[in-house]
Amino acid sequence: MTLSSKLSDPRLFRQYAYVDGKWTHGEGGREEAVFDPATGEALGHIPWLEAHQITAAVDAAEAAFVHWRALRADERCERLLAWYDLLQAHREDLATLMTLEQGKPLPDARGEVEYGASFVRWFAEEGKRTFGETIPSHIPNAALGTIKEPVGIAALITPWNFPLAMITRKAAAAMAAGCTVIVKPAGETPFSALALAELAERAGIPAGVFNVVLGEPAEVSKILCAEDRVKALSFTGSTRVGRLLLEQCANTVKRVSLELGGNAPFIVGPDMDPREAAFAAVAAKFQTAGQDCLAADRILVHESIHDEFVEHFAERMAALTVGNGLESEIDLGPLIHRQAVEKAAAIVDDAISKGATLVAGDQSQAPGENFFMPVLLTDVTHDMKIWHEESFAPVAGITAYADDDQVIEMANDTEYGLAAYIYTHDIRRIWKIMRALEFGMVSVNSVKMTGPPVPFGGVKHSGLGREGGVTGIDEYLETKYYCLGAL
Ligand code: NAD
Repeated sequence: MTLSSKLSDPRLFRQYAYVDGKWTHGEGGREEAVFDPATGEALGHIPWLEAHQITAAVDAAEAAFVHWRALRADERCERLLAWYDLLQAHREDLATLMTLEQGKPLPDARGEVEYGASFVRWFAEEGKRTFGETIPSHIPNAALGTIKEPVGIAALITPWNFPLAMITRKAAAAMAAGCTVIVKPAGETPFSALALAELAERAGIPAGVFNVVLGEPAEVSKILCAEDRVKALSFTGSTRVGRLLLEQCANTVKRVSLELGGNAPFIVGPDMDPREAAFAAVAAKFQTAGQDCLAADRILVHESIHDEFVEHFAERMAALTVGNGLESEIDLGPLIHRQAVEKAAAIVDDAISKGATLVAGDQSQAPGENFFMPVLLTDVTHDMKIWHEESFAPVAGITAYADDDQVIEMANDTEYGLAAYIYTHDIRRIWKIMRALEFGMVSVNSVKMTGPPVPFGGVKHSGLGREGGVTGIDEYLETKYYCLGAL
């Protein structure tokens, strides 16, 4: 059965790039197959654009910028809200597409459509509130103030783990600000991006405002970073690639916003009910099969409740079902590809060879070659890869600690600084640890922390800038100061 036959609206499945409102073939004959990670079947192909076609996308975004920025904010809002409505109306097809190309269970994919769409609605409204300010004048007979203006063309480079929401969180902010965008989705998950383009067109978003380019990642990114007409680059992905892009943007001194890797500590205080905390930790670790920058990678449990916590964690973990995300009652889908499985296995082997205890995790039970059964390791220490590297897999590592000062030191012992979790009801402990953590986001007694109203982003090597919230749109705005003299 072809992919389009699984959709109620087959036109959402596109195998072309989308440039200047046109579905575009590659001109050099290069293409890439896209696979269902659960079955290994090819879902379709995408063309790789040639260098001049990427430049043509910049030309289109430049031409469209003139008109898009000139619209009133409420006019842009109406079009973005129409896009939002279409995302909601096609939620089931978008979720099916996403599960097929990314592997996550269908209910999670539906949740991502909802989450991704919510940013479109949020920024549609925020676009009407890009206020400037009036400044009390220190210059005689002058009026001083600021106005906000769109930066121009924004290049948006996104990962495969959240193929839809990572695009809307950027694109909606940029477009609401009056910018035009060129999206370069991950090659593993282009179809969600192309379905977004189809719906943007139906929503009346003019040609050239929302473009999707496809191609060899390093080649495409190099062109977009070196292009002076591209005024902002927003990237979500690995720290390795983020560093590379930051360097490539230096010559054109463009705005760079980076949402990079995470290595979240999950701190459990001695006062916690071990069962409640263990269940929360399982939820924070295994979403999207652990392929989540917010995944609880280092679970730090007070020594007084460690053993009980481990028992409850193992019990909860054993109840997780692994399988094809299109089937019902699945908690964990496949990993994105075989290399991810190999990386996870290597991280587990490294930990065991350095003294970690394998409590659970039998890979002989895996239902297919891209699947990785959840693993629980205890006695995890600083010298193991799992401590420092994102496993991006369902591998949980637990470490016991003795007191608050020690756990703060352990939690901060990473180059990453995206998100951290604290579970305790002791308000003094919460305040002390929350303030001492070197992370952009700290969630206390809650697994859920993200959404349109809050600033998402990290410190240290987890990135630059924030997405969402009232400041998310600022990544795409310039502040122009004016002085009206001789009044
Ligand atoms: P990745 O860095 O490999 O790829 C991200 C994007 O960069 C893709 O579009 C890819 O095609 C492109 N790319 C890859 N190599 C490139 C190169 N040499 N030059 C230019 N572009 C290149 O990351 P990934 O594996 O797709 O995603 C996983 C990573 O993303 C994890 O590190 C995860 O923590 C991070 N992530 C961060 C957030 C956040 O908000 N902080 C959210 C989701 C994922």
